[in-house]
Formats: sequence, C-alpha cells, structure tokens
Amino acid sequence: MNKTAQRDAILNELRAHNSHPTADKLYEVLRKKLPQISLGTVYRNLEQMASRGTIKKLSLAGHQKRFDGDLSRHYHIRCPHCDNISNIKVDSLINLDDEFQEVIKKIGCDNYYFELISLCDECKNKLIEEQKEAERIAQSKKREVLVWTN
Ligand SMILES: [Zn+2]
Ligand SMILES: [Zn+2]
Repeated sequence: MNKTAQRDAILNELRAHNSHPTADKLYEVLRKKLPQISLGTVYRNLEQMASRGTIKKLSLAGHQKRFDGDLSRHYHIRCPHCDNISNIKVDSLINLDDEFQEVIKKIGCDNYYFELISLCDECKNKLIEEQKEAERIAQSKKREVLVWTN
C-alpha cells in the first residue's frame, strides 16, 4: 500500500466517524481493515493533514489530541464524565464566536478555545439509574431500621 492510499484510508476512516477519535482510537479501528498499518503512520498522517487544514485537530490541556474530519463550522460539546465529544451547529453560537474573535484580536490574543461541557445522554441516564439505586438502598435501610425499632 503506497503512502497516498494509506493517507486516504486514514482520512476516509476519520470522516466516517463522528466521535472525534484520538490517533490511538483511529488506529485500533484501522488496523482491523489494514493490518500492515502502524500507529506511527496514523499519527504522522493525522498531524500532517491537520497542519495542511484537511482535518481539524482539537487539543485541550490535559486531554489527548482528538481529530475531526468535518470541516464545516460547528462546535463541540464534551461530556465531563466519559470525554465523548459531539457536534452542535447553532447560528447564535457562530455569531457569538465571531464577536469573541473580534474581542480577543483587540486585546492582542492570538487564539482561544471554545467548547461546551455537558453530560452526554448515556452518562445522564446512567447517573439517573445510580441515583434511583441509591434511593432504593436508602429506602430499604430505612425499612430495616423501622423493623428493628418496632
Ligand atoms: Zn458521557
Ligand atoms: Zn466536530
């Protein structure tokens, strides 16, 4: 497999996923289809494509770099529990972002990172289940106490 074919395979795989994978995650998926591909190749190609603007790189201090094949203007909601990143496209956020960019240029900053934080549906549901379970346990303990005191 030549270098261009490898790069195209990496790009296609990234575009097929909405999950904004890390290089490691993308490699895990890719090597099932292309056993000869190496993590180094995936990593290098992602970095090259990001620097050329073919894809976007999302980096946030304290988190592993994630990559995004969707170049349309959109924003990200990160789940603080499982680190899942989903897309959000809302015009008012784009307007707000434009305004913010003007402001930071005026005060002499180069860049900023704009990200929304919210529990994903899966984690929300899990949390609700955990709360219900905790309530059930608390209730049954209360009953035990009642039985004892009677
Ligand atoms: Zn989550
Ligand atoms: Zn995205």
